[in-house]
Amino acid sequence: QQREKTVDYQAVIKEAFELYKDDKSGKNADYIPFLAAVNPDMYGIVLATKDGKIYEIGETKYEFGIESIEKVFTLCMAMELFGDSVILEKIGADQTGQAFNSIPAIEMAGRKPANPMVNAGAMATTSLITGYYGKATMWEKIDAYFDKLAGRDLKVLDELYQSEAATNVHNQAIALLLKSYGYMYDDPLVACDVYTKQCSYGVNTRDLAVMAAVLANGGVNPLTKERLVKEKYVPKVLAIMGTTGLYETTGTWMFNVGLPSKSGVGGGIISVVPGKYAIAVFAPPLDKAGNSVKAQKAIGYIAEKLQANVYLGK
Ligand code: GLU
Repeated sequence: QQREKTVDYQAVIKEAFELYKDDKSGKNADYIPFLAAVNPDMYGIVLATKDGKIYEIGETKYEFGIESIEKVFTLCMAMELFGDSVILEKIGADQTGQAFNSIPAIEMAGRKPANPMVNAGAMATTSLITGYYGKATMWEKIDAYFDKLAGRDLKVLDELYQSEAATNVHNQAIALLLKSYGYMYDDPLVACDVYTKQCSYGVNTRDLAVMAAVLANGGVNPLTKERLVKEKYVPKVLAIMGTTGLYETTGTWMFNVGLPSKSGVGGGIISVVPGKYAIAVFAPPLDKAGNSVKAQKAIGYIAEKLQANVYLGK
């Protein structure tokens, strides 16, 4: 406690910002036309504490595609609706070791979605929600939940949604395959479309930090004080992030940094320091697995500096 109070978070994120701002490594996602065209030099860092303090530096107001980071919050919503054992039974909680949109991974997992952080598992999770609410209200309900997480009205970036919807035939194939294996809980193409729309939310780095800080704060939004995730589910969500959050290189990430995190091909990464704060970084160029290069470096630096690795137990 004492130590927490004396830490200068602003100085630490500034150091991380300066250290990597000229790093040109990695490449924007190019399989979604909209993402390929985003300015690769964009870079923002936000740290949000469990008591609602926000520290930020760089392009923290710029709105980009949330992409796979939405999977964390769809999981939260589904857990709230159905409980954790349904998630375990109908989706799974095991790392695939394969790319996020791998079809062999589904086969190797025993013809199951494997976990909620790969496309198969995320679409199956979304199908639980769309099936529960039905077409008339499903989007309204999802949208209301995401707004509460961010503490503001989030909007889908229509251009991104159109760009992705026009090119997501591979995800449609995954959804149909899962249906054939009995792991889709609503119309598979509806689930795929709603998943695509969720991935197309425009968020800024600050929004992501606040959303992640809900998990750092035991499930309560630190700004609005509203409970959005039951406390007992928070460690389950963090466990999934800690084993699957950075695609097939999650093990390396946990070895190096030790923070439950989630990346998205839009260039964002969120990391949670349970009971303390969350960090969000945005920088579009990605490594081969799909993780923002600069975001990984910046979070790695901040975590080291703040001794945040969860396995240190500090
Ligand atoms: N909408 C993207 C897809 O389904 C998300 C990928 C990601 O961020 O991992 O391909």
